[in-house]
Amino acid sequence: MSWECACGITNRDNATKCGGCGWTLEQLNEYKSSLENKNVKSTEEDKGIIKFPKQIDVVVTDINMQFGSMVLFMIKWALASIPAALILFLIFVLFGGLLKGCFGALIR
Ligand SMILES: [Zn+2]
Repeated sequence: MSWECACGITNRDNATKCGGCGWTLEQLNEYKSSLENKNVKSTEEDKGIIKFPKQIDVVVTDINMQFGSMVLFMIKWALASIPAALILFLIFVLFGGLLKGCFGALIR
């Protein structure tokens, strides 16, 4: 019995680390499951060096969310919009005050 590492080296069964890249079986399994979960294409190149994707572009095609968690999400969103609205309001007040201070005499 032997196990093959992602780098292409076949190791003996009692080997705790890969003879090629030094990965442990645990690291290898973690890497394999991350490939399955995120559906990331293996970027293993012919040099035998494993390169992890540094940046993964995420494209949202659909939101599959349960109704309850969607409601909670929208409540959180609405609550978060309160301080955002306050900040915008403050900016408008300051900007309006500035304009009035500069040109107030003309408008009157
Ligand atoms: Zn290896």
